[in-house]
Amino acid sequence: MNSVFSRRVFLHAAACTFILVQGKALGTAGKAFAATPKTRWGLIVDARRCANECAACVDACVRENALHSHDRPATDARWIRKVRVTDKTTGFVSRFPVMCQHCASAECVRVCPTGASYRREDGLVLVNRHLCIGCRYCMLACPYKARGFVHEKTSKQAPGSPRGMGTVEACTLCVHRIDAGGRPACVEACAKAGHGAMLFGNFNDPTDPLAKRAVAFAVTALRPELHTDPGVRYQGVTP
Ligand code: SF4
Ligand code: SF4
Repeated sequence: MNSVFSRRVFLHAAACTFILVQGKALGTAGKAFAATPKTRWGLIVDARRCANECAACVDACVRENALHSHDRPATDARWIRKVRVTDKTTGFVSRFPVMCQHCASAECVRVCPTGASYRREDGLVLVNRHLCIGCRYCMLACPYKARGFVHEKTSKQAPGSPRGMGTVEACTLCVHRIDAGGRPACVEACAKAGHGAMLFGNFNDPTDPLAKRAVAFAVTALRPELHTDPGVRYQGVTP
């Protein structure tokens, strides 16, 4: 990734959240999906299809996870954000969403002193709010600025996305939907808006469209020099 990207992408303040998530979950639709190493959930984001002024993914995330605004943009929860990156050499501008990258080599997990940050066997990196002491080491350690801190009391919570004041949170890839056999709200919203810039699936299943695309086309990690092995990959972004 070029240095222009590195600087610009991470200038955008992130906001995010913690979430309590179970190691093995029972889907709300009644289906149970155990987290196993046979699965590595992930996303491919195609920046070339990401429409300039569209924020359907961001809005869907806010609705799905009940991320209410407190009119404090610097600290309001935001689990996904659109970034704008300019290649200074060519002038080419790209825009695309950035969220927790669900790294296989996750610094947030490594630095967490309580084990609150953890990685499920299916690759999802989550926060157990009952173990989180709010030290925010993980926020400092995350190279993608993907996590945020809950400053205010939370109310009107979404059933699948528990939140709590004094803890850290971030994108869960809509784990509550995944465990019920669904796909993340952002992916659904992008498709509904007619852009189809986000593909969700299982990197470990060679028959999955996500895995097929990863084999067929160049997909890149953000900040590849950090070797985080993220579960979110991009097309149309210069590494
Ligand atoms: S993007 Fe940040 S919060 Fe998410 S897994 Fe990677 S290091 Fe952890
Ligand atoms: S704030 Fe501290 S305790 Fe909570 S998840 Fe981050 S590193 Fe772990």
